[in-house]
Amino acid sequence: MMNWKTDISEGKVLCLICEELHDLEEVQCRRCSASISQRKPSSISQTWAYVLAATLFLIPANLMPMMVVTSMGTDEGSTIMEGVIYFLAHKEYGLGLIIFVASVAVPIFKLSVIYFLLLIIAFKQKEKAKLGLKLFHIIHCIGKWSMLDIFVVALMVSMVQFQGLATIQTGAAAISFCGAVIFTIIASEKFDPRLMFDK
Ligand SMILES: [Zn+2]
Repeated sequence: MMNWKTDISEGKVLCLICEELHDLEEVQCRRCSASISQRKPSSISQTWAYVLAATLFLIPANLMPMMVVTSMGTDEGSTIMEGVIYFLAHKEYGLGLIIFVASVAVPIFKLSVIYFLLLIIAFKQKEKAKLGLKLFHIIHCIGKWSMLDIFVVALMVSMVQFQGLATIQTGAAAISFCGAVIFTIIASEKFDPRLMFDK
């Protein structure tokens, strides 16, 4: 198993890419050439900043219309959840579920995990670090699929259009949603999981 538990006092540097262990003075990984540092600089404050920004963007993303449907001269906006309900009501269960998971459940899960990791450090809950590391790997894995969220929004719009419901425009929520996705990715990039194992 890896050496994530290397306490900062042990004077070793772990490569976050390939998990090779190095001496302190080294700045580049011997095995994979990634640049290495004992701890990412100002990781905690930057992670906090980006996770808060992501949260602020996620709120309007859920409250404002994701798409605006113009039919017979009237504009009608619908939020993500209204979109989910729309598809469920029209017996499009698969689509409703995909949109719910990708646009509501996953973004909230990712943010919750990052807050949890930051709190482990803030309250020095070292015994929760292993769980934290597992969760960190999970959101890192999901991170690769983050653009799926945005893809789903596009899909949602095209599906409604396909059903001939008049003209559709993406609403303000789409932009907020992209912001939330991007800031969440940056927050998880700025986070240094090794900090959880420090005393
Ligand atoms: Zn490496």
